[in-house]
Amino acid sequence: MQGLSDFKAASGLSPNAQKSSIFFCNTGRSARSCIPHLAQFREGILPVRYLGLPLLTKRLTKQDGAPLVERFLARANSWVSKSLSFARRLQLVKYSLASVEVFWSSMFLLLASVTNECERTMRRFLWGGRGLCGKSSKVNWSQVCKPFHEGGLGIKRMRSWNEALLLKEIWNLPHQRSLWAKWCNLHLIRKHNLWSLHNWGSHSWVWRHMLKLRDIARTHMVYECGRGELFSLWYDPWFHGNCIHALYGHRVIYDERMNGNEKLKEVIVNGRWSWPQTSWELIETQQRVQNIPVSSQPDCIGWHKKGGAFSTKQAWQLIRRASDIVPWWKMVWCSKRIPKHSFCLWLTIHRAHKTKDKLLNWGLISSARCVFHCGGTESMDHLFFECPYTRNIWRDALRRCNIHRNILPWVEEEEWLEAYAKGDYFPAILMRLAVGATVYHIWLERNRRCFRNRFLPGDEISKRIREDVGRKLKFTGDDYGNDNDRHHSLCINWGVL
Ligand SMILES: [Zn+2]
Repeated sequence: MQGLSDFKAASGLSPNAQKSSIFFCNTGRSARSCIPHLAQFREGILPVRYLGLPLLTKRLTKQDGAPLVERFLARANSWVSKSLSFARRLQLVKYSLASVEVFWSSMFLLLASVTNECERTMRRFLWGGRGLCGKSSKVNWSQVCKPFHEGGLGIKRMRSWNEALLLKEIWNLPHQRSLWAKWCNLHLIRKHNLWSLHNWGSHSWVWRHMLKLRDIARTHMVYECGRGELFSLWYDPWFHGNCIHALYGHRVIYDERMNGNEKLKEVIVNGRWSWPQTSWELIETQQRVQNIPVSSQPDCIGWHKKGGAFSTKQAWQLIRRASDIVPWWKMVWCSKRIPKHSFCLWLTIHRAHKTKDKLLNWGLISSARCVFHCGGTESMDHLFFECPYTRNIWRDALRRCNIHRNILPWVEEEEWLEAYAKGDYFPAILMRLAVGATVYHIWLERNRRCFRNRFLPGDEISKRIREDVGRKLKFTGDDYGNDNDRHHSLCINWGVL
């Protein structure tokens, strides 16, 4: 009660007994009945919610995580009545839905069942599902959750983002930059060291999970020795990324007749390493520290490199499992793009369109005949561009790009485009827009014929491709036509001039 009186005197804030509760942990029955009476507070039972988060001493359960799952679902359901393009859905998933979990992820290591449920909601919404009913995904979720340059759509997996956010808290501990970090140092780490602290069962569930991430943090925290006043001689990983104690055990501290609380400055004399030579471990240490520079600056910890500042995004990049870079990503996701065309092209490259040959295999339709009446079977390769109807459309688009050649199978066209449509020069930009528009309008016409029984002649499709590309070029505001004669003729072909 004295503590509350001191707090009232210092801050001018007095607790409202009607709105306050008191919580006990490892307290005897008599004290539990006595204290609420003295304080005039009622006894509360955990877990309760504080600032939207559950206050826990035990492990986070699926039930505790239910409010987060519900918030995800409610946020996604608030948009389902609107008619949204895929590009808009992707934006909402990346920047609005994903932000729902950031607050929770900064505090807890979320359960796999909770993150799975949240990601299921994101996936359903992305592919056009409503509420709890989902449409089937066209591309595997693990592929969707890769960055653009690795062939995905740049959505972050919740688990790795959760770990990256918690790494920030571990980074803050030795720096004592937040109130929470100061409190942890004072009450949880105390006279020990973050890196040597045992992960006992008596610690709270949240703290134990935080400590489990120490190994990941240590591999990326770079200790730079200065005057040696801050780093623990035995327990901080300043020694080629390791702690002396972890390498040689407790014996080495006895050999040096020290108590374990020493700082690095104990073995630095006049800016040079000076270890006592009383055991072979200490002799070896003296030799191995010679290539660790010492400066007259304060000791410093960097993230990933000397003096590096922590960034959650960079931490996420370091801990996630990266894939190979795909050669086509700049062709699809270039800055001057038409989003709906880019997405359609992305699906085409992943061969994700539900063409009739797939539907026939799944037993959903009885015939896979091409909708353009060429007599062939509709497949990805047929649509792009084995079919005479679509081949003519692509030939026309190439001709407008001043390219006159035979049309190749899709795989070879893709390779050719990767090589040709590279860089920021005008013909490459134009080619990227042209292939995106062609693939999009062919797929649109295929769907128009399949589902609406309406037909457009090939000339009309080509006209729409030309209009889309021309409009985009006009809106980019660059004066392409005045560069040279070749660019001038391309601008005329696409109706820009
Ligand atoms: Zn055909």
